[in-house]
Formats: sequence, structure tokens, C-alpha cells
Amino acid sequence: MYKEDLLAEKSQFVKGVGPSRQVLLARLGIETVEGLLTHYPRDYYDRSELSGISSLEAGKNSGFTGIVLAVSNRRLGPRRSLLTVVVGDETGIINLVFFNQPYLKSQFRQGLRIIASGTIQIYRGQKQMIAPEYEIITGELGEELIHTGRIVPVYPLTAGISQRMIRRIIKAALAKSEGLIPENLPERLIRSMGLPGREEALRQIHYPDDWISLEKAVRRLKFEEVFYLHLLIGQRRRLFSGSRPRPAISRPFSLVEDFLGSLPFDLTKAQKRVLQEIEKDITGKRGLGRLLQGDVGSGKTIVGLAAMLMAVSNGYQAAMMVPTEILAQQHAFKIKEYLERSSIRIELLVGSMRPSEKKEVHQGLIDGSIDIVVGTQTLIQEGISFNKLGLAIIDEQHRFGVKQRARLGSGDTIPHFMVMTATPIPRSLAQTVYGDLDLSIIDELPFGARKVRTEIVEYSGREKVFQRMRELFDSGRQGFILYPLVEESEKSDLKAAVDQYERLQKVEFAGYPIGLLHGRMSFEEKSKAISMFREGKICGLVTTTVIEVGVDIPNAAALIVNHPERFGLAQLHQLRGRVGRGGGEGECYLMPGENAGSGSNRRLSFFAGNDDGFKVAEMDLKLRGPGEIWGLRQSGYPVFKLINPFSDKEIVDISWNESLALLDGDPGLKKKENEVVSKYFHGYCKTRMELADIG
Ligand code: ADP
Ligand code: MG
Repeated sequence: MYKEDLLAEKSQFVKGVGPSRQVLLARLGIETVEGLLTHYPRDYYDRSELSGISSLEAGKNSGFTGIVLAVSNRRLGPRRSLLTVVVGDETGIINLVFFNQPYLKSQFRQGLRIIASGTIQIYRGQKQMIAPEYEIITGELGEELIHTGRIVPVYPLTAGISQRMIRRIIKAALAKSEGLIPENLPERLIRSMGLPGREEALRQIHYPDDWISLEKAVRRLKFEEVFYLHLLIGQRRRLFSGSRPRPAISRPFSLVEDFLGSLPFDLTKAQKRVLQEIEKDITGKRGLGRLLQGDVGSGKTIVGLAAMLMAVSNGYQAAMMVPTEILAQQHAFKIKEYLERSSIRIELLVGSMRPSEKKEVHQGLIDGSIDIVVGTQTLIQEGISFNKLGLAIIDEQHRFGVKQRARLGSGDTIPHFMVMTATPIPRSLAQTVYGDLDLSIIDELPFGARKVRTEIVEYSGREKVFQRMRELFDSGRQGFILYPLVEESEKSDLKAAVDQYERLQKVEFAGYPIGLLHGRMSFEEKSKAISMFREGKICGLVTTTVIEVGVDIPNAAALIVNHPERFGLAQLHQLRGRVGRGGGEGECYLMPGENAGSGSNRRLSFFAGNDDGFKVAEMDLKLRGPGEIWGLRQSGYPVFKLINPFSDKEIVDISWNESLALLDGDPGLKKKENEVVSKYFHGYCKTRMELADIG
């Protein structure tokens, strides 16, 4: 239904576009009329005040309207010219000056009425504006103004599309769709929230009558953005807690008690509290669907393992999916160690294992002889079936897409489900992105406040840092030396890390055993490197972001990050979390490249001064937006154009409550009053959210 709408029509049919501009517009992500209408301004100029020419003041940005009195073009040299347009009103005269645009001359015929905005200058006693924004007025002053004489939109551009061009195109798209933009929020909501209608809002956000109308339009369009996402999440939430049965899990959990009793330490208060929350869900009617958040080193793994043992105690299988092979291996190793004396079968499943080994694991999962499996994405990629999967856990969720987590949970029964992450998610954003999950927070670290001292090292200070590292090695501690390898496919970066490793071995760390670990190594090589490091046979590990998440080597005291300017702050915080885990202060040395720039220095200084994961994430969010940090872009969630879930808390809250209420009253969106919602929802989800496989 929605497809046939005018809004879905290709943008090339809008006046002023055509096939070649359509290609340019596509670079801005604009394909359709709706794409044009939702290509929102990034800023506005207030050009609504017009003054008489005599009262225009030098140095001020102002606008006026007047009649073209004279036009002259003077050549100043080859390809250089000066076009002067003399404009007057009843109070005075001003010159508009354009350099090197002789072709404009024909536009400014004598007697035409124009409106212009710009900065007033005085030149040889006369008022002038250089290259003002202007418009030639044909009809009535007011209605048709686009570039001047009003609040004027400023759009994101791409090469080949100018500001004037896109303003005209969007104006044309608005004209074309007049009276044809369907409403998509229920009448009741529009009224109770005092929102403008959809068409009115789209008109006002581009060409606002005044600032208040603009504010209202923005509010409405923000609401719309998040409301439909909430509806989708709300539906999933219902599905999750409703129709399909969840594995029945109940006390006693003898395995959990044995396990916790065997630990050489007590759980922190926060860990205990979260375990209770998990138990309540997993044994209850609603089932477990939780996002577990806790800073690096807060001890999430043990909580996750205890939850898995609840499932295993009841004869179910449990799976943990992690983002890297190294982490999978580490978890599997540790879990085996913890459960050494039990008869529980734990296996590892990662992509680089031999086919025969993998097959054996597949078999064990199908026949139910494997109780716990730890693996990478391979767990959801290779058509693996479980005999009786009771609980699925995803560790370090920010590395995975949302679709992936949906897949781990498909089948006749929906397994209990938990996501663990160290990247703090502001509540309002969590609600927006993981609204179908409940939130648990471990807000306490086992050893009190873990501290990592972070220092930015100038080029000249490098030798001192290597010296410090050698001292640590001498005292039996260990350290990481990290090179950026943002994508594992970046061959030149990989070469850099390998080359550096060879150099470090010969020069800075000559005589010290150091190792190399990166994502391109084979499974065996990786295992060997990490276990040699764990066992203390090597004191320094030259590595890449493969260690970003989860790697837990308590004896690692220091980390050197080369080219920290290439990382996001949340990611740097994860990396920094690799040291100082065994108590005592960790040390992190950032070594920016020589041409890293001052912007990145400010960013890094902020980072060095803040060891609080939440503050770091907040700053990262400001700098990069949510799409990058929580992997939303890859995940198929829409990238919001207007709403910032972090600062627009109020709108997010209203939307959340309203969408749940709407679904409570009308789960299938079948009621007449929700017809507009249903229509847009189905069109919207299908065409834009690509989340058809969820549920
Ligand atoms: P993260 O939350 O970053 O995943 P881990 O689960 O890897 O943290 O735990 C970090 C380290 O703290 C591990 O070595 C773990 O054994 C240890 N640990 C976990 N809980 C406690 C606790 N209550 N007391 C002491 N050490 C703990
Ligand atoms: Mg972890």
C-alpha cells in the first residue's frame, strides 16, 4: 500500500532533479520524494528581518529588498571579473558585488525586484555586500521566498549539489506533495501532545514560518522517528514474553552453588544482586531477556557462567557467543578450569577449527552430550542445531549486530537470553535500542576502584616509556604493545604491526621474550601466543585490537597504544581495561602519530583524564553518535536523522510509554483508530528496517 504513495516515487521526478542529479542525490542517501522531504536542514539562517537600505549597518549581517537600478560587469584580467549590481529602495542605495561570475549579469535586469542577505561593508563611502544570497522576486513578497527574507534552511551537501539547488529541489518536492502526505500518528496522540500534522511538520522543518513552528515540527518528527522503532521493539517484547514457551528452569541449582563455593573469592554485592535478578526471571513466567552492563573488570563472566549453570542444572544446554576467537578460547579455558571437578561437558566452537573438530561439536550439540558451548559467530552461521538450548548469552554485545542476536534465539521454544556489555549505555538509549531487554547493572568492581593511569606520550618521550616497560618486565610484570588494525583486512596495517614486532624484538626489547598476536594468525598460533603470555613465558605481547574485549590477564600491568587517534574513545577504554586487572594501578601510554592533529589531542586529553567508562562513553557518543559505538549501523536499525536518544530523553520516554500502551490495547494494530499507524508501520519496517527475520 505504502509503496504506491507519492512519497515512494523516485526523486528524479521532482522538478529540478532529473537522472543526473538523481545520481548526485543518491550520494546523500536520497532516492525518493520522501528521501528529499526527510533530508533535514543541518542549520538555519535567520534572514527574516528586512531593513531599509539606509538603516543597514556596516559589519552586520542583514537583509533588505529593493529594485535593480543598474548592472555592470568589469573585466579585471583573464578569467577575472567584477559584477556590480546597484540596488535601491526609497531610503537609499547599495552595491551588490560578485567576483568572477559574469554569467550572473543577465539575471539582474534593471527594474527587477530582488531580496538579498549578507554582510554590509563600506567601500569608498558606499554600502556594499560581497556575494550575497539573493533572490529575484516575481510574485508577491513572502510566499515563494527560498533563500532570503525568511528563516532559511541550510542543508548537508555533496559535490555537484549547491545550497541554492537543493533548497529549490526540496521546495519543489514540498509543492509536489501538497495535500498528499499521509498522517502516520494516531489523532489522539497528535492532539494530546499538541503536535503539528505530518505534512505541516515536514513543511515547517524546511521552511519554518518562525522559530516556534520549527521547534514544534522538529519535536513531532523526532517523536515519529523513535515511536516506530518502539512499536517494533514492543512487538518483539510481546512475542518474547508471550506466545512461544520458554525453557522451564527451577531450583535447586546445585551446580551453581558448587561453582560459587569453589571460587577463591566472594561475589561482590552487585554480582549477587544481578544473579538474583537473573534467577527471578529465568525461573519466572516472563523468562530471562536481559542486558547486563558492567564496566570492564566488573566480573560479568562469572555471573554469566552461573546463569548458564542454572540452565544446565535443569538438563538444558547453554551457549555463549563472543566476538573474537581469542576471547572464546579464553572463556572456554576458564570455564573448563572452574568446572574441572564436575562432569559437565564444555566445548569450544570457532571458525578456524578443523572441519572434523567442528563436526564433532555439531554432533555433541545435536545429541545433547555437550552442556556448554562457547564460540564465535560460527555458532549462528553454520546451521547448528541444539538438542535443548536453555540459555543463550552474548558477551560484548556492542561488537554484534542486533540481527545476529535474534538468530541465536530462533526455534520452537525461545531460549532464555542475556547480553553482556562493558560499554555503558545511557538508559534512554538502551530503551531505544534494546527496549525488549531488561537492564541489570554491575556497578561495583571486585577490587574497589580499578585505576589505570593514562598518559599521552610525545614523540620525544617514547624511549622513557619503553624504559618503564622494561622495568616492569624486570619486576615480573607484563605488558601489551598495541598497533591499530582497525579492520582485520587492512594488510598494510598488519604489516606495520609485524614489522614493529621484529624491530621491538631487536631494539627496544632486545633480550626480553616478546610475542606477537593478531587476528590473521591461525587458531593454533593464536592459542599458543595467548597461553605463553598467560603462563608468563613471554613478558610483552605485540598485538592489535584482537585483544580489545574480554582478554583477562591479571599480571598485565601496562599497555602502549600506538596511533590512539585512530580509535573511538569507548574502544580505547575497552583496551585500557586489559591492564591493572590483578589489583594495583594499571598504566596506559598513548602514542599518537606525528600528524594526529590537535582535535585528536583534545579528545585524548579528555580520555586520559577520565577513567570512568560512563563518562568516556558519553563523550564518545557526543563525538561519533550512537551508530558507531553500539554497532547500530551494521545492525539494521535506522540511523536516526533527528533524534538523539541521549539528549531527547523526554521524547523517548513518552514514545516508549505510548507505544507500549498502544500495543496493549491493540496488539495486532487492527483497530480502525490505529489504521494510519499500521499502514506506516508495515511499510516502514519492510522498506527500511530490514528486520523481517526478527522474532
Ligand atoms: P568483565 O566484566 O570485564 O568481563 P571478568 O568477568 O573477565 O570481567 O572478570 C575480571 C576478573 O575479575 C577475572 O579475573 C575474574 O576472575 C575476577 N573476578 C570476578 N569477580 C570477582 C570477585 N567477586 N572478586 C574477585 N575477583 C573477581
Ligand atoms: Mg568480559
